[in-house]
Amino acid sequence: MSKEEKTLLTIEHLVKYFDVSQSILHKEYVHAVEDVSFEIKKGETLGLVGESGCGKTTLGRTILRLYEPTSGKITYDGGILYDKSRGRQPDMFDFRKKMQMIFQDPSASLDPRMTVGDIIAEPLDVHKLCASRKDRTDRIHELIERVGLTQEQANRYPHEFSGGQQQRIGIARALAVRPEFIVCDEPISALDVSIQSQIVNMLEDMQEEMGLTYLFIAHDISVVRHISNRIGVMYLGSMVELAESFELNRNPIHPYTKTLLSAVPIPDPKKSRQRQRIVLQGDIPSPVNPPSGCRFHTRCPYAKEQCKMEVPKFREVEPGHFAACHII
Ligand code: SF4
Repeated sequence: MSKEEKTLLTIEHLVKYFDVSQSILHKEYVHAVEDVSFEIKKGETLGLVGESGCGKTTLGRTILRLYEPTSGKITYDGGILYDKSRGRQPDMFDFRKKMQMIFQDPSASLDPRMTVGDIIAEPLDVHKLCASRKDRTDRIHELIERVGLTQEQANRYPHEFSGGQQQRIGIARALAVRPEFIVCDEPISALDVSIQSQIVNMLEDMQEEMGLTYLFIAHDISVVRHISNRIGVMYLGSMVELAESFELNRNPIHPYTKTLLSAVPIPDPKKSRQRQRIVLQGDIPSPVNPPSGCRFHTRCPYAKEQCKMEVPKFREVEPGHFAACHII
């Protein structure tokens, strides 16, 4: 994977709450994304990991403004995508051509009443990118072949395809507008293990070929660590650690990252026996009423009094290695 140093996306203090109030007298919010800041470089893959419900999918969707942020600022290639301090937010129509999403469940994300060709061409039609009927058909054929299917399959319907093929269709649709940035939201977690590596290899080849930038979301750190240049770890809506992939694996700083890495299987049985697995006590707390101070303090083996009261700053501990913890 190529990696240039130019910053493509800058996320600053991004917050996303969902109003789940049952009454107007008692307001309740899901604190899905809490004060998250990071950058994505052009051409890189930034992996985003954490348990289900930690806010990583919401973060991906909020960056694309599929969910409107609650506050914060998002800058894309020098242009403002969202800035709470401005009253009126920019129109997303032109940004949508540059930023796409691949969804976790391919069967749910493809309209069962549309042919595969029409599904792939939908973004082309929305953005009026084809000059003629022939242009449209040629582009559908080019895209469908690029993801390993055949031209004849363009006239079929989604239910006639396997899960892996449906995900290929979802990828072709995302590529149709020639995007620069793609949020890959757990794109392989619903697929058979035998198909997963094919899809990952295809995404890597496309990145090389088209200079794409990925935000690759997964709940399993072992999936992202091989394909990501850098990895961000989320816990209960907050980013707790961010570093180069190799560095994060070699030298995890945050207690939660250490827990995640201790659960990754090691192929060598001797090394596996020597390694100590860290098992967290308790369940992940409710994002409606998250713990005070460090959100991880209710499960952290190193928690002290300060952790209950003060939110740890997300800071650069070593060059390029960020973490949020009071004891580092
Ligand atoms: Fe654990 Fe405290 Fe660090 Fe949070 S701030 S991870 S509770 S030691």
